[in-house]
Amino acid sequence: MNEIIVTKFGGSSLASAQQFKKVKDIILANPNRKFVVPSAPGKRNSKDYKITDVLYLCYAHIKSGVPFDDIFKLIEERYLNIIDELQIDINLKPYLKTIKEKIESGASADYIASRGEYLNGLILSKYIGFDFVDAADIIVFDEDRSYNRAKTREKINKLLSNRENVVIPGFYGANEEGDIITFSRGGSDITGSIISSGINANLYENWTDVSGFLMADPRIVKAPKTIETISYKELRELSYMGASVLHEEAIFPVREKNIPIRIKNTNRPNDPGTLIVDELSKDSKALSVTGIAGRKDFTVISIYKALMNSELGFCRKVLSILENKGVSFENMPAGIDTVCLVIDSSKLNNKLNEIVDEIKMQCNPDSIEVNPNMSVIATVGRGMAKTPGIAAKIFNAVYEANINIKMIDQGSSEMNILIGIDNSDFEKATNAIYNAFVK
Ligand code: ASP
Repeated sequence: MNEIIVTKFGGSSLASAQQFKKVKDIILANPNRKFVVPSAPGKRNSKDYKITDVLYLCYAHIKSGVPFDDIFKLIEERYLNIIDELQIDINLKPYLKTIKEKIESGASADYIASRGEYLNGLILSKYIGFDFVDAADIIVFDEDRSYNRAKTREKINKLLSNRENVVIPGFYGANEEGDIITFSRGGSDITGSIISSGINANLYENWTDVSGFLMADPRIVKAPKTIETISYKELRELSYMGASVLHEEAIFPVREKNIPIRIKNTNRPNDPGTLIVDELSKDSKALSVTGIAGRKDFTVISIYKALMNSELGFCRKVLSILENKGVSFENMPAGIDTVCLVIDSSKLNNKLNEIVDEIKMQCNPDSIEVNPNMSVIATVGRGMAKTPGIAAKIFNAVYEANINIKMIDQGSSEMNILIGIDNSDFEKATNAIYNAFVK
């Protein structure tokens, strides 16, 4: 039996006629690429605009009663240029006219934003000679905007399972009333993953403008190495901490079917990219460190109390204070007499003082210390659990760079060591850890 590959192309891969040509070559080079999920046209260069952003801008204009004709022209021009240059036999004008009219008559932000993918899907299907199936007929959302997996599965069985060579636009679906609903930004990755899972694909290819995941952020570390293979779990840790190539939620649908994802570069199709798999085969040599990622702007509240370990309900009290204030926490490293709350500063909503006062009142700690402006760096690697000395190597590297570590946490999976440092040390510490393992 032939393999089934679902291929998703990101916005930069479909930003211009020239990019469309590359995409066509890629798709037609392998007949197993039977299902294609396009994003909306992205930026052609760093100063350019993304069609989705312009569509949201149209919505914002009409909402505030400002004419949007000029910006809508940018959208028309982009698509018409693509079809002109590629000489695709499709009359897009009636579609553009309908979309404009719908915007004028108060269409939702989701509907407007989704049209970027919709139009690109129509164009691409015509260009490569595949059928077009609207995502609104396949991806089902509930009234509360949550994605309905069971109903989507039924639709995929009905509309896609016996077909091949189909284009399905990414990013959106519809509720049972037929209203368009989108995923969060970058959500075409999720569509590709859902389709892969629904049709039991052998591989989900995600084509973008980088040759896979890098071991560290290239804006911080110079020319970091590419990660060849990574497990879903490691990827989850790295993407949560800031490595952004794939939408965070795109892992889940393929993961339940154990379908690998390959990240590929449309501009360098021969590069191997990164393969994301469930479990790595026994003989694959797990490197001790797969990647390093981090985020700035956390607030750490450290609470000290002698004999905290034997006080019943101490942590429960602390956590219910956060819950009552509606603030979530990211991590909670603890020792026998201490517990730290690591909170994303943007989620504190000016409630820091209230939280600290409540903790003082209800939990009666010996002391409480607040560290705002903290960064957290995660060093992630599946081989870590089996390799002694990883933590020592991280701490030593940071120490040698003259940086003070303010918090340490090791995930229970032993796949992840987190350190908390001042925001101002973030770049330096990331480089120090990378160099300790890679060079
Ligand atoms: N076009 C949408 C966005 O810009 C979705 C996507 O590209 O995946 O967020």
